[in-house]
Amino acid sequence: MKDRKPHLDGDVGDISPAIFREQLHRLADWIADYREKIETLPVAPNAKPGAIIGALPKQAPEEGEPFEKIFADIESLIVPGMVHWGHPMFLGYFGWTTTAPGILGEIITAPLNVNAMTWRTSPAATELETLVIDWLRQWMQLPREFDGVVYDTASVGVMHALAVAREEAAPFARKFGLAGRSELPRFRVYASDQGHSSAEKAAIALGLGEENVQRVPCDAEFRMDVAALRDMIARDLREQFKPLAAIATVGTTSTASVDPVPEIAKICREHKMWLHIDGAYGAGLALLPEQKWVTAGWSEADSLVVNPHKMLFVPLDFSVLYMRDLERLRRVFTLVPEYLRGDTVEAEKNYMDYGVQLGRRLRALKAWVVWRAFGREGLAARIRDHLRLTKLLAEWIENDERFELSAPVVMGVVCFRFKAGEDDEKIDMINSKIVERINASGRAYLTQTKLRGRTVMRIGLGNILTTEEHLRNVWELIQSSVGEVAASLMERRALLRP
Ligand code: PLP
Repeated sequence: MKDRKPHLDGDVGDISPAIFREQLHRLADWIADYREKIETLPVAPNAKPGAIIGALPKQAPEEGEPFEKIFADIESLIVPGMVHWGHPMFLGYFGWTTTAPGILGEIITAPLNVNAMTWRTSPAATELETLVIDWLRQWMQLPREFDGVVYDTASVGVMHALAVAREEAAPFARKFGLAGRSELPRFRVYASDQGHSSAEKAAIALGLGEENVQRVPCDAEFRMDVAALRDMIARDLREQFKPLAAIATVGTTSTASVDPVPEIAKICREHKMWLHIDGAYGAGLALLPEQKWVTAGWSEADSLVVNPHKMLFVPLDFSVLYMRDLERLRRVFTLVPEYLRGDTVEAEKNYMDYGVQLGRRLRALKAWVVWRAFGREGLAARIRDHLRLTKLLAEWIENDERFELSAPVVMGVVCFRFKAGEDDEKIDMINSKIVERINASGRAYLTQTKLRGRTVMRIGLGNILTTEEHLRNVWELIQSSVGEVAASLMERRALLRP
């Protein structure tokens, strides 16, 4: 007989309830401590690629190990190797955030572990999903004809939206595909040069071809140039392409600019094109009554995607695709194999019918917990505060003559650049090095991007823990890094000189 393993009840079955309870209590304290002390951790590790995996056992475990041992590795190897996205000085990408209600929602979801594929397999999961989708629809003032489905990401959302656009422009694409059908034209999809690369990914997956995603130039404020869109469509029509869809972005990835949706909608109407609105980041702004401008033209869209895990405080991942008349989406994706028929009743809402995924985890509960805990007013107040901080940072930048704003400040994103000097390439390098230096220090985390060919620094605000003091500290860090970076570049050049 084998030695008895003290952490298990027996050789089969789960961990014993008493041990599990004790582990959970420990974990509850660990989670609370992590949140309370997150600020004392380096925001990002200074690890070399391969260092973490190198410190972990190579061999898959033949025998089970006690949780204490597993947890010791989590504390000593995994956590120190993390970028702490919930850290108040994490200002990269969009300021998506960890929240206490969000963590609670995730914890409650874990033991339920349901599969939300059909109503029968998970009635409460399905109905909660329908409910939170409708709450968000109302908050975003989308007309009633819009209904939605929760996916993991906006990239998956746009793929499904374009699949419906494709089916409607190329009937029976679902059944026969596109290949070998000489009656079909080549389709074109238009997005601005600031729009997200998920458009190309969708075109790759749908057999539309990434080259058929045409990038429309932007105006001085990084919004799609509508005249250029018209010209591109006219050119494509002359060349026998068929304009299929336009993607208008509300909150572009680099600068959070907003495309002129009403004008794009007009063009879509004229050419019978699908209008998809990519509001992955920016659509959340609609929760603020004073920011209603952002919703202009939405009611004319065929589809709109929003990632509440970006601006609306829901933990990653939670993305909603809305579609005018969601039945259009169901028609393209419903498919019921025999082994699911018993649990699939047509009259019931079966979310597996609305996309390629069959198994679907319960995402709605965490959104429901967070949105109930804060309420629309609480969400709006927090977003408002992030906008206040964003404006404040923009003011500090404008008041330091060595720096300039690189794009208008529209939402919780500031793009800016150290500008002092003659040599553009050297200035690019200084901007890039400032970001690298700060990130490597573990004291804060920002990102960089290119605008009009020049490197700029980028700060995204939206973390619930970030205060004015944190922002002031980051700004001082940036200011003090300039001299150090410039000096080290000069030194290196001097050393490299023959
Ligand atoms: N659209 C925009 C404007 C984005 O900024 C992003 C990601 O940041 C996406 C789409 C893709 O989002 P996801 O990561 O959910 O696929």
